Amino acid sequence: MYNPRVGDKVSDLDTPSMIVDLDLMEANIKKLMDKLLPTGINIRPHLKTTKSAILAKKLAAAGAKGGCVAKLSEAEVIAEAGFDDLLITCEIIGPVKVKRLVALYQKHRKIRIVIDSAVGATAINDALAASGIEEPISVLVDLDVGLHRTGVAPGEPALALAQHIGGLKHLKIIGVQGYEGHLQHLHDRADREQQCLASMKTLTATADALRHAGFDIQVVTTGGTGTAEFCVTVPGVTEVQPGSFIFMDTDYRNAVGRFYSNSLTIRSTVVSRQGPRAVTIDSGLKTLTTDSGLAECKDARYAYGVLGDEQGSLVWEEGTPDLDVGDVVEMIPSHIDPTINLHDFYYAYRNGVIEEIWPVDSRGKVQ
Ligand code: PLP
Ligand code: MN
Repeated sequence: MYNPRVGDKVSDLDTPSMIVDLDLMEANIKKLMDKLLPTGINIRPHLKTTKSAILAKKLAAAGAKGGCVAKLSEAEVIAEAGFDDLLITCEIIGPVKVKRLVALYQKHRKIRIVIDSAVGATAINDALAASGIEEPISVLVDLDVGLHRTGVAPGEPALALAQHIGGLKHLKIIGVQGYEGHLQHLHDRADREQQCLASMKTLTATADALRHAGFDIQVVTTGGTGTAEFCVTVPGVTEVQPGSFIFMDTDYRNAVGRFYSNSLTIRSTVVSRQGPRAVTIDSGLKTLTTDSGLAECKDARYAYGVLGDEQGSLVWEEGTPDLDVGDVVEMIPSHIDPTINLHDFYYAYRNGVIEEIWPVDSRGKVQ
């Protein structure tokens, strides 16, 4: 078995391998904390990006409180790996999942969930009632603030759902989630800010309406890497959920700029020469995702193209030094979360030496 170790040189790693520049990653964390913590907001980073309990703990050590996961199966793995202050940000629907949720909650009482339907609420309540667990699970009403992905509509529907949940003994409403995912990658900063503030108005107005109806709304959670800085300026928002800032990707770099650095790259080897200014590298669709455009070579003189599952091309203009078989390049992912999901380990380095190796704990956990 191939078994790279702490202390090895990065240059000795086989490829493709996912490597993290620790200085840059730590600087990204510090920049986020320095910018957001003084506002008094709670930072609950979204672990859909890192899928790592070790990184969740590093973020908590830097000032974050808890973490988010997208799916229930991610929560299972991250909690088991020792980090269980988790908000599951996707709805938990269907008898198998509800059963798994009850089992998870049996062991980890800090788990929080979101709900956007009466049907979903009743199923979870009934399963908890049957389990004999006394303590009600903490619930956030998931609100649609414009993404139209999940979330109950603001106004009367949100109130009606809250009232339904309020009547269920094993569910306890503690807050509202309203994620404005459609705005994260808007390239025009003023537009992103303006639309974000409009979504935040919907979110905080709904939180107020629920309070008015007697609900104890303590948590109002929202935001990602592209909007967190705007969300924290809105009175009533208590928590933000940024994820990608820790590593960034080319799409976020193009949208939110270079405040955070690209701290994660995929080391790749040139495996074939395909012309005077063209080579093939060992990173294709199974290594770098393409939903948000193509990955970029860290050395921007070489342009990437996909050559199928296993390989990609790099081409260059005349006058640029040639790449040749055996050369190694670093590729910057275009969309960080699904790219990480393709790899087993992070190799985190400083000064060219691997300092830490982290498993991608919840890799492939899509349920
Ligand atoms: N919150 C929710 C519910 C999300 O789905 C996401 C990402 O898709 C985030 C927060 C974090 O976003 P980002 O990685 O863009 O910072
Ligand atoms: Mn993403």
